[in-house]
Amino acid sequence: MRLMLLGAPGVGKGSQAVLLAKALSVPHISTGDIFRCHIVNNTELGKEAQKYMDKGMLVPDELTVSIVASRLKQDDCQDGFILDGFPRTINQAVFLDKVLDELKMQLDMIINIVLDDRSIINRLSGRRICAKCGAVYHIEDKAPANEGICDLCKGELIQREDDNEETIVRRLKVYHEMTKPLIDNYKGRVKMVDVESNKSFEVTTQKVFSAVGLKSAKVEA
Ligand code: AMP
Repeated sequence: MRLMLLGAPGVGKGSQAVLLAKALSVPHISTGDIFRCHIVNNTELGKEAQKYMDKGMLVPDELTVSIVASRLKQDDCQDGFILDGFPRTINQAVFLDKVLDELKMQLDMIINIVLDDRSIINRLSGRRICAKCGAVYHIEDKAPANEGICDLCKGELIQREDDNEETIVRRLKVYHEMTKPLIDNYKGRVKMVDVESNKSFEVTTQKVFSAVGLKSAKVEA
């Protein structure tokens, strides 16, 4: 299955994508994760991307599209994939159309995850991530047993550079101006299902799974 997850930063796209990818046995392609991996490895691309990410701005299209094109051409993507965080601009969507055409592939479905801005700010400013295993916590809604320490692997919990309130507000502005227009761009030509993410993570997971025809989700911590 070839899926795209759309939605503002903080709606939970990434965490839902991880579960879906596992359930559907397809790769999860997150441009944000790819950039963060380059940053950790101190590559030239990572250094360049970080300048934009830390400010809550989009990494320029010319640095982004080639990463996705080469990823989609890899063998493990031939039977399906989940795109998470790409495309984020109309230009990127046009580029994606071309690459998919070239590969004779079509998107099966877009899941558009929806949440109001106030809840997003609350979610992202309280989000903490394990530096070691990537598990996601929230200081109020999903606090670890011991403050600052991952329940699963005892790694250190950190706040993402771009999860401070000022940067979150900028990321949301960028979303409304640059990424939200993608909804209209795809409407009518790719099946799109809206999923509200205003309840618990597990409830959203069930809705996402049923949207793609999976009966139930076994949600792991
Ligand atoms: P995410 O993890 O998806 O929230 O992405 C974190 C940051 O990475 C974004 O705020 C952007 O700075 C950058 N980024 C991720 N995906 C893209 C994309 N498709 N185009 C441009 N910038 C991106």
